[in-house]
Amino acid sequence: MKDSFGRTIDYLRVSVTDRCNFRCIYCMPEEGYPVSPKDELLTFEEMARLIHIAADLGIAKVRLTGGEPLLRRDLPQLIQQIARHPNITDISCTTNGFLLKSKAQELKDAGLHRVNVSLDTLEPERFQRIARRGALQQVLDGIDAALEAGLQPVKINCVLMKGVNEDEAVAFARLTLDRPLNVRFIELMPIRWNLDETEPMDPIAPLRGNRDLFRLRIAQDDGMLSDLQMRKMVVSCDTAREAIEKELGSLTPAAIPTNGPARNSRVKGAVGTIGFISQISNDLCDRCNRLRLTADGQLRPCLMADGEVDLRTPIRTGASDEELRDLFLQVVAAKPERHYLAEGQKVVGRGMSQLGG
Ligand code: SAM
Ligand code: SF4
Repeated sequence: MKDSFGRTIDYLRVSVTDRCNFRCIYCMPEEGYPVSPKDELLTFEEMARLIHIAADLGIAKVRLTGGEPLLRRDLPQLIQQIARHPNITDISCTTNGFLLKSKAQELKDAGLHRVNVSLDTLEPERFQRIARRGALQQVLDGIDAALEAGLQPVKINCVLMKGVNEDEAVAFARLTLDRPLNVRFIELMPIRWNLDETEPMDPIAPLRGNRDLFRLRIAQDDGMLSDLQMRKMVVSCDTAREAIEKELGSLTPAAIPTNGPARNSRVKGAVGTIGFISQISNDLCDRCNRLRLTADGQLRPCLMADGEVDLRTPIRTGASDEELRDLFLQVVAAKPERHYLAEGQKVVGRGMSQLGG
């Protein structure tokens, strides 16, 4: 599939649940997070059908995310179903790692290729401050289990925040010295732009083609970190890189398989690699190859534009594969050239746990 700007769209991120066993400060409020009623979440049969339709159209890579995907006990069965499609060459999963220790081998056996584990601190007390649930050691054990199961490359996603864990860039970089890990620093994204801001620009304005197809969700103020708070806490990739180079020497460019948007580098002599991801700067949009399917069955062409197309209703009212294929193609056609955050566009609809970050 090509979008209107000639980008090949071959990557689908699927949020398999909007539930989570953590409450990360930048993603969810501590209590009272609104989740969809269970009957509004896609069943795995529905998800598998949509993923196969997407694969018929050229999707080759699927990432399972959430919410916390490992909370869905039958995740291995979904992976097996996805893996059956001959066009799918890469199945990955983003997880907080808490349940990974006991599940890594089963996931690998089901056909999962690799895993990204989100981890923002190596200090147990800070872990409680950031994730507000779970336990650091269990996540570290999960990372070991993923390596042992051969879910490689194992990537670690780390969000640095001022006043919280900004001093841990070097400690994370050290993890790569003797282990085949790809540690990626991801800039904090103030994704709930509306909460303490002025009236946002029409959030679906960037979408192209048939705008009537798209629905817009507006988030309620639910107490998670606000836009302004998050913007003040961003630690730039440049800052993280500087801190690492000061301590561990110059980083050299490194190529790794399954290279996503991260620019990868290596500390001299290290086994693993380090990546830097800045979603906010524009330079990732021209390489964007993604669509996102939310846990409640909405297909979204862009993380940073709130319009989404309902696939759940058609799939539950007897739509044919042909009709669903047509909706996929319309969403691809609507994919905006880039985000317009610098021009005042706001993302107002959903938090990352609902979107499938
Ligand atoms: N629960 C799983 C996990 O944490 O890996 C998967 C879902 S989580 C929403 C996916 C990723 O989004 C995590 O790496 C998390 O750190 C990241 N994320 C969530 N909110 C974010 C934000 N406001 N800015 C940057 N990254 C964010
Ligand atoms: Fe849960 Fe992942 Fe969001 Fe943390 S980032 S609250 S682990 S969905």
